[in-house]
Amino acid sequence: MRQSQMLIPTMRENPADAECTSHRLLLKAGYIRQNAAGIYSYLPLGYRVLRKIEAIVREEMERAGCVELLMPAIQPAELWHETGRWNIYGPELMRLKDRHGRDFALGATHEEIITSLVRDELTSYKKLPLTLYQIQTKYRDERRPRFGLLRGREFIMKDAYSFHADEESLDERYHMMYDAYQKVFSRCGLDFRAVIADSGAIGGKDTHEFMALAAVGEDTIAYSDESQYAANIEMAAVLHVDQKRDETPLPLDEGQASTNDSDAIHISFFRDGEANVVAVLYRAIDEVNDIKVKNALDVTLLESISDEETVDFDVFDQTSSIQILADNGVKNVVNGVLKMNGKLLHFNINPDRDLTHMTFADLRMIKEGDPSPDGKGTIRFARGIEIGQVFKLGTRYSEDMKATFLDQNGKSKPLMMGCYGIGVSRTLSAVVEQHFDDQGICWPLSVAPYALHIVPVNMKNEDQKQLAEQLYETLGHQYEVLLDDRNERVGVKFADSDLIGCPIRITVGKKASENFVEVKLRHSGESEEMAIDQLQDYIE
Ligand code: ATP
Ligand code: MG
Ligand code: MG
Ligand code: MG
Repeated sequence: MRQSQMLIPTMRENPADAECTSHRLLLKAGYIRQNAAGIYSYLPLGYRVLRKIEAIVREEMERAGCVELLMPAIQPAELWHETGRWNIYGPELMRLKDRHGRDFALGATHEEIITSLVRDELTSYKKLPLTLYQIQTKYRDERRPRFGLLRGREFIMKDAYSFHADEESLDERYHMMYDAYQKVFSRCGLDFRAVIADSGAIGGKDTHEFMALAAVGEDTIAYSDESQYAANIEMAAVLHVDQKRDETPLPLDEGQASTNDSDAIHISFFRDGEANVVAVLYRAIDEVNDIKVKNALDVTLLESISDEETVDFDVFDQTSSIQILADNGVKNVVNGVLKMNGKLLHFNINPDRDLTHMTFADLRMIKEGDPSPDGKGTIRFARGIEIGQVFKLGTRYSEDMKATFLDQNGKSKPLMMGCYGIGVSRTLSAVVEQHFDDQGICWPLSVAPYALHIVPVNMKNEDQKQLAEQLYETLGHQYEVLLDDRNERVGVKFADSDLIGCPIRITVGKKASENFVEVKLRHSGESEEMAIDQLQDYIE
């Protein structure tokens, strides 16, 4: 493509409103423009990179036997009522009414739509297993849209959903998707970790998050180089407890329900994004029905929670949340975590005691340097960007939505389900967070908008112009080439070229008449002069 025909509005100064490296560079290099908070246009270069990432995702999905379809962004509220999520999902779900006053949601995720599709179309075990996916725009009215594409309100996601007759089949698919995700993110040139995570408000069992390591990441992961162990910090202590059930305190997370691990009872205190209200979800087991849960920050709040009861609390302060876990096996001990001023404080309460006596002395914080759960090495913390997540949903949605199939014996059963997401636009930003220098972006070849950037120093020089055109023509048969055919000063051209960040720059300068050019690698900065007939070999 000729740069004179492109729209690449680079900036000389750093954009004032940029909140992190990828946001700044994508704006500055002319890849994206903001239209409203968390809502962006992908300019031609940005869109090319997005399509590169999508192509990698598609290839790996198809290789793993997933089939692509496309579902609507506008979803009828009735389906969300069936699963109860119309109420549970909260203000993050964007809602609208049609001219008849009927309620709709803008798709934040597609479990409801796909389950309704499949329950009507898939009725026999003979069609199972089946995995469908789409790459589509998602809408979430995030409380704090920020960091450019990293946390948008309109963003692009690959979401896949699998359907199974039994748990073994789901396990198998889960592992296939896990492997496919490893391939996708490796091919995008990312340094990432797959971590055990909390299954959150979506409901379900096993889940892993894929975290790109980056300082700007909003998640903290706990891992150890010496062991296989890697977990989202909110999950870290859960594993710990799985190992030493009777003595060790637990974990958890602000704003999310916990895993439905059959050994534990989970009481989650949700913080509503707008109003300072928390709700409680409770899965009770008889022995501990009478536990009193108490807000450690405010001694006046004491609530008794019974089976299936939902209670509204006043929230403690802006940054606190609390989750109590009572253990089925060790019924007298309640473990929990209190999130206060961004810190996780773990505690362990014996309900036989008067709860009003719980003090901060009972609290413990997980920290770096703690031994790991499997006894190998010590815990390290790192910041991560959640670029993808795989979930075993089980029958949470199929039961609510009555999506059943007939098994081999003609018996009706709910479908087992899995779901698997990749933040495609977030991945784009995550790549930039890991590949840049003072001059701009340094794209990995796999997702670069163009592999080669041909930059004639002076377009008014006939030799240079002709050689640049010739290279553009010949190399263009094999590679994706951007030709800077603008009548700009060479300083501007070089600065733009570094900012845009194509992996290889071919500078056509003074030696054009001898058919010599300079080749520069964006990543390492290495440059070499060579005759044009050596170019092909060099690029390979
Ligand atoms: P987060 O914890 O960052 O809010 P999530 O857990 O809510 O993300 P999922 O429901 O797991 O997100 O969605 C699948 C993927 O979509 C995520 O792993 C992430 O890569 C991407 N994603 C989620 N929310 C956003 C957003 N607001 N902007 C861009 N990408 C997003
Ligand atoms: Mg979210
Ligand atoms: Mg998440
Ligand atoms: Mg997630």
